[in-house]
Amino acid sequence: MTSPAALKPNPYFPIAQLQCETDTGIDTIPLALEQSFPSWQTSIPERYTKMDAEELSRRIRGARATLGDKVVILGHHYQREDIIQFADDRGDSFALAQYAASHPEAPYIVFCGVHFMAEAADILAAPHQQVILPNIEAGCSMADMANDADVNQAWRELGELYGGTDDIIPVTYMNSAASLKAFCGRNGGVVCTSSNAAKVLEWAFERGKRVFFFPDQHLGRNTGASMGIPLDEMVLWNWRRPAGSLGGASEEDLLRARIILWQGHCSVHQRFSLTQIEDARAKYPGVQIVVHPECRYEVVQAADANGSTAYIAKYVANAAPGSIIGIGTEINLVARLAKENPDKTIFCLDPVVCPCSTMYRVHPAYLAWVMESLVDGVVVNQIKVPDEVRKDARVALERMLALK
Ligand code: SF4
Repeated sequence: MTSPAALKPNPYFPIAQLQCETDTGIDTIPLALEQSFPSWQTSIPERYTKMDAEELSRRIRGARATLGDKVVILGHHYQREDIIQFADDRGDSFALAQYAASHPEAPYIVFCGVHFMAEAADILAAPHQQVILPNIEAGCSMADMANDADVNQAWRELGELYGGTDDIIPVTYMNSAASLKAFCGRNGGVVCTSSNAAKVLEWAFERGKRVFFFPDQHLGRNTGASMGIPLDEMVLWNWRRPAGSLGGASEEDLLRARIILWQGHCSVHQRFSLTQIEDARAKYPGVQIVVHPECRYEVVQAADANGSTAYIAKYVANAAPGSIIGIGTEINLVARLAKENPDKTIFCLDPVVCPCSTMYRVHPAYLAWVMESLVDGVVVNQIKVPDEVRKDARVALERMLALK
């Protein structure tokens, strides 16, 4: 992911034993030197790939000053520091999409995050706003685990088994393609975030007997469990199984199920384990553990608290000075919270956790390129959701918004 030369000691992680190479801060190296660059977006003018941190920073700031209110730069919590420093606002995907929608004076929204986030911003944006994703190859492995064909196939099989789909409410996590949000909009379903998943499931169970939840099994299971739904009433649908095989579940299990969970996961959050929590508690009596609900069920059960990135940030901010807090979420956010809360000891539960590899693809060279292109009057890497998808996806998003 990055060369050893790009790593440096991090003064903000006081527990040396729990540090790892990727905790130690990532300096900006020229894009061409990033080991993974050949598999990222390579269609960027070559000159940008050779620029060093100082030149990229100067160019981004220069373009920012020229564009003024015409552009809003958004930075997801999991973005690297050399990107987040330029963000007008930072937050989770939904909060950022709302921020963009509340700034109609800006015709350009540069979304430093991953593909599904830029799509959601485009769906909620005003018609005159254009959303730009700096690196078009910045996707999300979880979102990629659910596609239209597989979800529609599952829907058909569930309809055949249950004698129709009227009693099934599809719920998609924000971390999904716009086309799946549209699927939910068309089929009486809704979108949820990690902040409001319980409220959304309550809404769904007021309208149907079962919920079809995708793409993150863990958020679905953890939320269902928090609402008192037994584990054996939440049945996994393995989308990798051949069509016609009920996702590998038995008819009996599916007839008992209240939630059908898509077998998707976040590659970052699935790394956190019960053993890591036990180790942290053994080493640091009194440690508080807070994790994201994309973590496995047993991890969430063993934690003191769980919630969205915004919840975790608030949890840390509200902790008493001197607190020791082990966190189960992406390392860029954990490192930032450690830096911003020097009166507390903050560490990542996974001693060898890496940054989200797709979030990491938003290198400052891409930001410099899209910003300077805007100065030249050229929009590159626009994310445009087709009108027929946007209409239905917006319905699902607005159902969620109405719950707030
Ligand atoms: S942290 Fe996980 S869910 Fe978020 S963008 Fe990365 S892979 Fe996707």
